[in-house]
Amino acid sequence: MKEKQSQEQIDFLAAILKSTPVSVIAMNKDGKIEYINASTEKMYGYTNEELIGAEPIILYGGSDVEEVWGRITAGIKEQGFWRGEMLNKRKNGEIFYIRMTMHPLLNEKGNYLTLVGFQEDITDRKRAEEEKKRLEGQYQQAQKMEAVAALSRGVAHDFNNILNIIHGHVSLLGRDIAIDETQNEHLERIEEIIHRGGGLVRQFLNFARGAKNKISPIDLNSLIAESTEMFSSITSNMQIFSDYYQNLWDIEADSGQIEQVLVNLYLNAWQAMAEGGELYIKTANVTIDKIAGKSKKILPGNYVKVTLTDTGMGMDRKTKARILEPYFTTKAAGVGTGLGLTSVYRIIKEYEGFIEVFSAKDEGTTFSIYLPASTVAITKE
Ligand code: ADP
Ligand code: MG
Repeated sequence: MKEKQSQEQIDFLAAILKSTPVSVIAMNKDGKIEYINASTEKMYGYTNEELIGAEPIILYGGSDVEEVWGRITAGIKEQGFWRGEMLNKRKNGEIFYIRMTMHPLLNEKGNYLTLVGFQEDITDRKRAEEEKKRLEGQYQQAQKMEAVAALSRGVAHDFNNILNIIHGHVSLLGRDIAIDETQNEHLERIEEIIHRGGGLVRQFLNFARGAKNKISPIDLNSLIAESTEMFSSITSNMQIFSDYYQNLWDIEADSGQIEQVLVNLYLNAWQAMAEGGELYIKTANVTIDKIAGKSKKILPGNYVKVTLTDTGMGMDRKTKARILEPYFTTKAAGVGTGLGLTSVYRIIKEYEGFIEVFSAKDEGTTFSIYLPASTVAITKE
């Protein structure tokens, strides 16, 4: 009777061990695997026969075994058990994170029976933690950019004041004293330089400015036509082909800022084609529906899309991942500042638009910028 009862108890306990999602492993005195439950088979992809009698080392996947065992032994000695995380390996070679609790089982007399480990696959949680860390990194990067922008604004304003003072004195000089031809030439030269300095400061402020400037409806087709004409007159060996969508929606923006975006993209394309090449510019109306908008964290609605494709050197993955970082450049000092795409991104963001990049090494680059269509213009239509 007693025996029957204990057999029932054994079956009962075995059923519990079988049903738990936690992997249970027990090891004998020789350190070999003595027992595993069904979840262990599932977690590791080995069968019961393959694991019983094996050394647990076949389950390890990259964690320093000696170091982990050191911690396990110390934990058991100090508090009777060990709990921690480690990297293990499935039969198919896949490495994954587990969280494990290990403790020795003793009999009534206090003699060691076996070492039992309970394991949970925590790979998903680890991934989520890594993703969180990555996002925090991005957020810090964005904050750094804000700081750089604030600093640039301050410097630009001070510098502008200095230029104004110099300009004031120079004009007084020119008016007050009887000066000869050469002296006058010097003064004109100084004025010219001051003017150039002023232009530089404006550019700088444009980059750093948080607020929008003069917002008006813009027809991107004509803005592109004007700016490419200007650009091709100062560059050689790059052919520009444009494909304008005829009923393009207007956008509402500061045309100076949008021009800055376009010129930065032309310039990058041109610099990527040292041997010459082609730049294709295309405009289109695009409607982003709720579903697409949701998955990309982009507001659904109507957008005007400008696609610029160059036949230049392209980018590898590593470069592509960093192009928006302030001061990231692969160009020689003096050629690149690493601020071009940073300011493009800032401006597009300011208008609640977004950017897509496709590129591969030696295979050219495509930048697509999306800017929200003006609601006024669409109602008119
Ligand atoms: P800069 O042009 O001063 O280097 P940007 O922010 O404009 O700074 O660009 C950052 C980097 O992105 C460039 O140094 C280059 O490596 C890469 N890049 C940008 N546009 C292109 C392009 N059209 N083709 C290839 N690489 C590009
Ligand atoms: Mg650039």
